[in-house]
Amino acid sequence: MEILYMFFASKVLICVVLFQWEVVQKTLNGSQFYAYSVCNVGEPEQDNWLRTTFIQRRPSASRIFVELQFIVRDCNSFDASVPCKETFNLFTSESDADVGTTFRKGQFKKVVTIAPDEITSKNGMRINTETKVVDNLSRKGFYLAFQDIGACVALLSVKVYYKACTATVESLARFPETVAGSENQALREVKGECVENAQSEEVPRIYCTADGEWVVQVGHCQCKPGYEKVGDTCQECQPGFFKAASSDGKCEPCPANTQGLEAGAAFCPCMDGFYQAPTDPITGPCSGLPTAPRDLVATTTQLSAGKLLLSWSPPDDTGGRSDITYSVECQSCEGGACRPCGEKIRYEPASAGLTLTRVTVSELDAHLNYTFIVEAHSGVSMFAGQASARAHKPVTSLSLSWDVSPRPRLHAPPIRYELTYRKKDDNLDVTTYTVLILEKSSVQISELAPGTAYLFRVQALSSDGSPGGSSIEEQYETLHESTVGDLDFFGGAVMLFIVVVVLFLKRNSHSRQGAEDNYFSSPEQLKPLKTYVDPHTYEDPNVAVLKFATEIHPSHITKQKVIGAGEFGEVYRGILKVPGRKDVAVAIKTLKPGYTEKQRQDFLSEASIMGQFTHQNIIRLEGVVTKFKHAMIVTEYMENGALDRYLKDHDGEFSSFQLVGMLRGIAAGMKYLSDMSYVHRDLAARNILVNNNLECKVSDFGLSRVLEDDPEGTYTTSGGKIPIRWTAPEAIAYRKFTSASDVWSFGIVMWEVMAFGERPYWDMSNHEVMKAINEAFRLPAPMDCPSAVYQLMLQCWLQDRSKRPRFGDIVSLLDKLLRSPDSLKTIADFDPRVSIRLPSTSGSDGSPFRSVSEWLESIKMSQYSENFTCAGIINMDQVLQMKNEDIKNIGVRLPGHLKRIAYSILGLKDQTSTLSVFAV
Ligand code: AMP
Repeated sequence: MEILYMFFASKVLICVVLFQWEVVQKTLNGSQFYAYSVCNVGEPEQDNWLRTTFIQRRPSASRIFVELQFIVRDCNSFDASVPCKETFNLFTSESDADVGTTFRKGQFKKVVTIAPDEITSKNGMRINTETKVVDNLSRKGFYLAFQDIGACVALLSVKVYYKACTATVESLARFPETVAGSENQALREVKGECVENAQSEEVPRIYCTADGEWVVQVGHCQCKPGYEKVGDTCQECQPGFFKAASSDGKCEPCPANTQGLEAGAAFCPCMDGFYQAPTDPITGPCSGLPTAPRDLVATTTQLSAGKLLLSWSPPDDTGGRSDITYSVECQSCEGGACRPCGEKIRYEPASAGLTLTRVTVSELDAHLNYTFIVEAHSGVSMFAGQASARAHKPVTSLSLSWDVSPRPRLHAPPIRYELTYRKKDDNLDVTTYTVLILEKSSVQISELAPGTAYLFRVQALSSDGSPGGSSIEEQYETLHESTVGDLDFFGGAVMLFIVVVVLFLKRNSHSRQGAEDNYFSSPEQLKPLKTYVDPHTYEDPNVAVLKFATEIHPSHITKQKVIGAGEFGEVYRGILKVPGRKDVAVAIKTLKPGYTEKQRQDFLSEASIMGQFTHQNIIRLEGVVTKFKHAMIVTEYMENGALDRYLKDHDGEFSSFQLVGMLRGIAAGMKYLSDMSYVHRDLAARNILVNNNLECKVSDFGLSRVLEDDPEGTYTTSGGKIPIRWTAPEAIAYRKFTSASDVWSFGIVMWEVMAFGERPYWDMSNHEVMKAINEAFRLPAPMDCPSAVYQLMLQCWLQDRSKRPRFGDIVSLLDKLLRSPDSLKTIADFDPRVSIRLPSTSGSDGSPFRSVSEWLESIKMSQYSENFTCAGIINMDQVLQMKNEDIKNIGVRLPGHLKRIAYSILGLKDQTSTLSVFAV
């Protein structure tokens, strides 16, 4: 609120033009104050003026508020025969310049008559405070004037202000202070900008309401990579944390094996010796190179066929990766010189890209020594060449296997072997032999020195330990470290160097083996005589409940089944058995345990309100349970549940006549409520209940819970909730909720009903809806909607609320339409591409449908897919050829569905006509 002008009357500060008014001193509660006062009671034809000084207007402030404090004397305190008034008038005059003390009555326009709420009598002085609105100001400034026509008035203070939405940061977008608009332009769209280090795909926008409140923001700002949201700012990620994208998320700790040395990191680089594969997400951990495979064993299978099975175990350390594969390389080494084995050798399944830890090698020559190098690879192996010397580089190991002679055995068959080996070049004096006793005819010897020649001998031992045949001493050489390094470079991964020796004890060794008319409500019999009483006016809300609702004993209530979830607890279907009365089906709303006293009172307030209504089209309250622990509200049971769901489930199944009948019922209920001065604020098809007779009844009453409970409600900056697409612009803009705003919502309900529960404005965002409404666009007629019904909707959506029809008018008009059903035959213009949102009209892609089923799905008629297929209609060209008769013949019987399909085909043919979205 920005104050433009303020005065308190005082002797020193007289800044007004006075005619008959004078400054007087008054005493109230012991303190003295001044007031502008006039009191010419008893004198006829009074016309006394008091005018302010020139009040400069801020150019954008076209709607200003005038708050007055004043006292009016009770006329009864004067002689009854003398003329006396108890009101005075507020005037304004706009001007581009200060005219000083010149005062011309004719230039002033009356704003309003001001009447006191409390008059001052002999018993005491009563100060009134009233706020009036002066709207649509356009000149540079204005004067206010007060005209007395014979009252006894004292004006204590005048405060002139306008409302503004204060500069704010909402969802990281900064919006400047914006003066609230006038009633004509009640919602001002304001562009904002993202705070530092935040960004948004579209320019952030928000509306400033005439009440100085921000509502419905679009364009979401998010902190840039490397920044996170802290309050209304974007702060750098701390060292050790990162954020990779523009998002609402927090900075995350750097993943494994990465380093986060700097603040504001969009990602954490890998630590030395760790890498990311090109396909790894940048936000993921880094991995090391895998270590060498372990336990490489060569098993001779069919030596005669030159076959060998190599198997090994996965590396001890996979570097944290699961994409480990293996490759096998064969070299034949002689005299320390190694060369590739050549293409003759076969590998099964392959020599590279192995995911299993074994490979069969064949086409080996029996007398040659082979060296097999098995390497482990992973997604980061490509970086191995860049790796500096690795500490964990293995040296070498050697696998040996041998076979026993088939010679006739003089002794028991060997079951153990003795393997002896030594370095060839060891000084003979200090030769170190290593002797291994082995159960198997193969072994892997690790940690041999690189580039060194070793001599091996194998001796077979029989079961009693006596020596059997022995091999000659064979020499094998491990590779030089430099060779390992080179291979390492090419292979990329840590490598295990293996020598597999096929050792024959003897030649020729043998192989070893491993409803139409009666649904609408009858005219209401009970004319409301009373006015709705706000239960809040009761000091104790419990008293209000007891006044308006009957207390039911819980033993008379039987809950049967949960049928819904309300804000306060489950809603059940059940039976009410009151002794001496017929059993009735009821809905039972319960209050979930753990409630606060405030929640209990809010919950029961719905009953206090509902209990005041008696009307065919208002949900009837049977009673309440308040005197027991589990509070309940019991209402009549509506078998078909909420209207929006019910219509969606019965899409196309009702005639216009039936739908209008439903609307007539809702309008009658609303007329009753508005006659009782009750403003619903949340009228929507989801808050209408339907019974077995298709009678529609208005439900969902309450105080704080109205809207709080509504999933469609959008929070405003003050925390209130508004279901934007059902709410009149003035109610969004400055919370002017009246029966006229309920009429707007009724128009939306009409549209929902005629469109069989379609969502108003489809998938448009709340912001787009408000923009469209502000620009005078309105929902187009639903398909097959009688013209007269659509015209009525448009009337309900008039910007000027005073021009909208009253609920009484609506009921009369709907009655008239129902009395002459022919009036429903003229159908409103309808653009099928708009109403059923065919993708071809979405404006973005414009692509035709690729299949019949895709098309049927888009018009929510998928249930007929099979009918089309069976009739041989399998592509869209065939669909376009279809006549109404054809649609009927393939089995579409319901008139609503027939029309929907026919209209859609019409729309598809009419690709060239321009799109008339929301034509009013
Ligand atoms: P409410 O808390 O009033 O929004 O109720 C939640 C849901 O319970 C509604 O959407 C209905 O599906 C169901 N319901 C509420 N009252 C009744 C009733 N009197 N008859 C049938 N269903 C009801």
